[in-house]
Amino acid sequence: MSSTSEAAGDAECGPVLPGPRAEAGRTGVGPTGVGRTEAADGVEAVGAAAAAGTAGAVAAAPEAAGAEAAAPDTADAEAAAPETAAPTPSLSPSRAADFMTCPLLYRFRVIDKLPEKPSPAATRGTVVHAVLERLFDAPAGERTPVRAKALVRPEWEKLLAKRPELVELFGADEGGADLARWLVGAEQLVDRYFTLEDPNRLEPAERELYVETVLDSGLKLRGYVDRLDVAPSGDLRVVDYKTGKAPSQRFESQPLFQMKFYALVLWRLRGLVPRRLQLVYLGSGDVVTYDPDESDLLAVERKLLALWQAISRATENGEWRPKPSRLCDWCDHRELCPEFGGTPPPYPLPVATGS
Ligand code: SF4
Repeated sequence: MSSTSEAAGDAECGPVLPGPRAEAGRTGVGPTGVGRTEAADGVEAVGAAAAAGTAGAVAAAPEAAGAEAAAPDTADAEAAAPETAAPTPSLSPSRAADFMTCPLLYRFRVIDKLPEKPSPAATRGTVVHAVLERLFDAPAGERTPVRAKALVRPEWEKLLAKRPELVELFGADEGGADLARWLVGAEQLVDRYFTLEDPNRLEPAERELYVETVLDSGLKLRGYVDRLDVAPSGDLRVVDYKTGKAPSQRFESQPLFQMKFYALVLWRLRGLVPRRLQLVYLGSGDVVTYDPDESDLLAVERKLLALWQAISRATENGEWRPKPSRLCDWCDHRELCPEFGGTPPPYPLPVATGS
């Protein structure tokens, strides 16, 4: 395995990674035949009230501007992730991205736990992730586009059974035309997957793998890896599916940050730096790869500790500043956001005095 090209991706916040610049690689067709696995992602993170962590780090939070186009796709896999009520020193890629994108958005999601409307794009992402996970239930040689597309409707129906509120996505769709179009859109994404990888040449080691580790600082990192491939040599490849389009280079750092987050967790868990990180963009048909090294992952760890400190401080003093960006177009909480003339609900946690 070797890394290649230049990244791309849908877009999102771009934390400026301290380490060497990501020489991500983009290819039209992803490498095949490495290991095994795949999975769905998920994510969340919870605020950290606790102390601990390293000193000095406020700087990290502000960096990550960018989030934009990520919005619709962000929800991709989050549904499954449990969120703790009380502030816990725990962080996931999605919530880290939330805070970097907009601290107030983080507060609304993690502290206030305000409900958000389901979106067709995010829900389609969840269904497509489930299809790509289930696809590997079939033996190699039988993982065909027809078989995969036949999973789309059943996976949608399973999801709907678990989350009945999703019915509102097509509530006014009496003839079922909107739902039919939406399902076709999901099938097209599944079709595109087969132009990027040959699943018959893969035996994922893990699919939708929940990973969690606690750093020396006490910060817990957790998340869901869509797929983990293990080569005969033992090399690890972390694969993440994105149902959006690959972002321009300007916004490529956020998805890579997410992948390095997973790589850091796996390194801590398995004592081995993953050889390759691979983003599969089904919306545009791009594959972005990046081969991390220890210095990359140590830089990510430093950044996460800084981020955790910033979150801890905001949790304690109740100061969650809004950070407007293009993401506001997708934000469910604009009516409560001071940037749009709103007033946030009363802060539900005690506020430390003198901070
Ligand atoms: S509308 Fe924009 S600035 Fe306000 S909370 Fe949402 S993302 Fe943040």
